[in-house]
Amino acid sequence: MTGDAVDERFDLDGRTAVVTGGGRGIGKAIALGLADAGANVVPTARTEADLEPVVDAIEDRGGESALLTCDVADTDEVDALFVDVAAELGAVDVLVNNAGINPEQALGTPDRVDQDAWDLVTDVNLGGAFACARAAAPNLVETGGCVVNVASVGGLVGLPRQHPYVASKHGLVGLTKSMAIDWAPEVRVNCVAPGYVATDLTEDLTADEDLRASIEARTPLDRFAEPGEVAAPVVFLASAAAAYVTGTTLAVDGGWTAR
Ligand code: NAP
Repeated sequence: MTGDAVDERFDLDGRTAVVTGGGRGIGKAIALGLADAGANVVPTARTEADLEPVVDAIEDRGGESALLTCDVADTDEVDALFVDVAAELGAVDVLVNNAGINPEQALGTPDRVDQDAWDLVTDVNLGGAFACARAAAPNLVETGGCVVNVASVGGLVGLPRQHPYVASKHGLVGLTKSMAIDWAPEVRVNCVAPGYVATDLTEDLTADEDLRASIEARTPLDRFAEPGEVAAPVVFLASAAAAYVTGTTLAVDGGWTAR
């Protein structure tokens, strides 16, 4: 033990964080959680109207922020994002790769999913995370920063009818391990694997009473998570409280994968 107060290790005062998919849902909660811990935070997504209130809420908490849109599947936009963040807020210390999709056209048995749907999901969920990590790399190495990837229980176990999503999330868990090895000791890379969280992404599940009940019954904690319950473990992994944690994936799933 160093004798440091444990609570100081959760402090992100003065750090600069980028959260992809930060306009709503889990990403918004992560952006606000990091700001509550003292960080300056850039939430980014494609929809400017979603980002505006998040930027305002970060500034209301005393943090600096910037309104920057980015499609993570477009590598030129990703490269430009990190140039703009560095110009406005300085070098990035914390990258949270949260942007993710699981659209209707990517659901179904393998023979039902066309190549475009596969490309779309893997380009956003996995390619986007890699592009952001690559673009942020010089900053992260310079600051001794960290990456937190947002996977899913679909990154730990198979799920029927969600093949591009499950493959992309398993890829993200693997990418977490390989990047953690290559970037140590300068940059820590970790991942969270949420279970079912009440957001726009799961609207179809929560709207269907029977489906919702069956998911809750399958979940030991017997309910969906709130977005803030995923944000808190992400803040932990981004902080010095997790200084000796790298290459790992933390299930934040109400016990779903414990069965
Ligand atoms: P959500 O409410 O649908 O929000 C997704 C966010 O990602 C939005 O801000 C969206 O903004 C952004 N996004 C989508 N495509 C993008 C792109 N190409 N470039 C940049 N941003 C993009 O979803 P959520 O439930 O919060 O999910 C967040 C993450 O958690 C995802 O990676 C998801 O797979 C994961 N997750 C969710 C659950 C759950 O139950 N909700 C469970 C496990 C894992 P724009 O559309 O404006 O770009």
